[in-house]
Formats: sequence, C-alpha cells, structure tokens
Amino acid sequence: MEIPAPLRLRVDRDALVSNWQALDRLSGAAACGAAVKANGYGLGARLVAETLAKAGCRDFFVANWAEAQGLAPLGLTLSVLHGLRAEDLPAARAGFARPVLSTPQQIARWRDSGGGVCDVMVDTGMNRLGVSVQAVRDGLLEGLTIETLISHLACADEDVPMNGHQREAFASLKGRTGARRMSLANSAGIGLGAEYHFDLTRPGLALYGGLPRPDMAGHLRQVAWPEAQILQRRLVPAGETVGYNATWTAPADTEVAILNLGYADGYRRALSGLGAAVADGESLPVLGRVSMDLLAVDVTTRPDLAEGDWLAMDYDLATASAASGVSQYELLTGLAPRFARA
Ligand SMILES: *Cc1c(COP(=O)(O)O)cnc(C)c1O
Repeated sequence: MEIPAPLRLRVDRDALVSNWQALDRLSGAAACGAAVKANGYGLGARLVAETLAKAGCRDFFVANWAEAQGLAPLGLTLSVLHGLRAEDLPAARAGFARPVLSTPQQIARWRDSGGGVCDVMVDTGMNRLGVSVQAVRDGLLEGLTIETLISHLACADEDVPMNGHQREAFASLKGRTGARRMSLANSAGIGLGAEYHFDLTRPGLALYGGLPRPDMAGHLRQVAWPEAQILQRRLVPAGETVGYNATWTAPADTEVAILNLGYADGYRRALSGLGAAVADGESLPVLGRVSMDLLAVDVTTRPDLAEGDWLAMDYDLATASAASGVSQYELLTGLAPRFARA
C-alpha cells in the first residue's frame, strides 16, 4: 500500500535546463558540468542528472562512491570529489566513475591498484582537499593518466584578492601535468569571468536556482518548489493568536490555512513570520512560528482554497536566505526525505 505524501518537492525541469544553458553560455568556451552531490542538492540526484544529461551536460560531480553508484545505471561521466579511501577501491575499480585523487596516499593507492584515467584535486589556498601546488611541480603526478586537474575557489562569491591568487596558482600548472583539461570554477566562479573558466566549469547551487553572486541575477530561475497540502482552514477572530508562543495576533478576523510542512521538513523556523506561500502569483504570508510539521498562512484573500488543496511555498533562495540568515545551500540541502520528489 503506497500512502500519498502530504508534501512534495516539485522540481521545475525547464528551469533546471534553462539554468544549465545559461551557465553553459556564461562559461564561454569552457564546457559546463554539474555538481549533483548531496542528492542533487536535495532535489533528487537521478532526476537532476537525467534531465541535465538530456540537455547536453557531460560531466557530473558527486561527493562519494555511494552517490556515484546510485547514478551508475545512467551511464554518465562521473567524478567522485572525495577521492579514494581504501574502502572505495572495489567501487573505483568497477569503473563507473573516476576518483578525484587529493592526497599522495590516494595517488599511490590508485597506481598500486592498476591506475587508469583519474582526476586530481590540487589545493590552491582553500586548505580543504587537494595536493599542494609545490608537490605537483615536484612531479607527484608523473605517470598518472589525468582527465581533469581540479581546484576549488574559497571566496568566488566575493570580490577579494584571494580569487586572483588562486587563479594564478592554478594557471601556473598549465602544461605541467599532462591533464587533458583544467577546471576551477564553481557557480560563483563562473561569474568571475573568462580567466576563471579554464576548460570545464562545475556549477551546483546556480543550477538549482541559487544566486551565487548578485551580478548573475537575471540568468537564473527558481527550480525547487516545496508544496504542501492544506490540513485545515479556520477563521481566527481579531485579537486571537496563531501558533507556538502566540507570536502573531490577528489584527482583524483572518482566514488561515494550516499546511502540512514544518522545520523537520527543512522549512526553516527562521522563516517564521517571514516566509510565504504563493497562489497564482499572490503572496500568502506565513503567520507566527513555523512548527516542526506544520505552519499557518493567511488565506483571507483566497476563499477558494480548501482542506486538501495544495499550496506552493515561495522558495526564492536569495530572498529566503536574506530573510532567514540561512545560507542558500542549507535551504536546498536541508529539504528532508519526507517530501515526495517529482
Ligand atoms: C560543491 C562543489 C562544487 C559546486 O559548488 P557550487 O558553489 O554549489 O556551485 C564545485 N566543485 C567542488 C569541488 C565542490 O565541492
């Protein structure tokens, strides 16, 4: 018996494709890949990867081998950003994805197990994953068959000197590793301009409707639409309150819809009194506190909305992030398993 979920995450595939096409255009001569780690930033990795592959995307990035295995049946070109632990060797040797090697031990492990085409992460200043620029200069990668040499920008969403320093350190390795391609830019890095694009870009956030830099607005559309069913409609008389701690008091008689959605679903409590549902372009404000599994919206202007109807939440990531203080990345990846994804 399949019980229909009372909340769903609608993924606007047209918007997803349109965002990828925009990022591909902005990437100029570089190819444009897609970061689909963390279940496609919460939207559903298979759905996202399948849609983007059909649109022409050729390079997909996941964090770990289990994520790669989940996408393996699609037959895509996958790179595993978190490299190659000893535990990963059987998966890596199965050949459905390339490891992005990021330590001397991983490089040795790959060589000793037979080698083959791989990617390599080089650290240019973020001090997260990657071998050092100096180690590459000293010949650490000699003999490897490298498809893509990768580095990652720490501050691409800001205009700071560190971007240029990282770019220069990375560019200094051009022609020194035998890598077929070089890749530096994430979503925000694409917006930094042509000298950051190298051969391949790796957007994540912007594909899914996040706005990595203000100057990229106008190119990107909302992809993720949380939707929930109305469980109850009620009249709240003037002077009464709604929700935990009675933070909202009705200034006049108010029609309220209670939706099957709350912070346990990833609709953050920080959006209490700030978020809204949307119906036919009209904004229906969230009233009072967001509960664990429920929230209330004002439907006074919409007498047509009844118990059992569905409402979409306004989930413009840049706006919701500015309102709530929660990063756009967390607003996406926090959307919980209780959503039916379609
Ligand atoms: C997550 C990730 C990306 C994508 O970053 P966005 O900021 O979401 O565009 C690209 N490259 C690496 C190495 C990553 O970890």
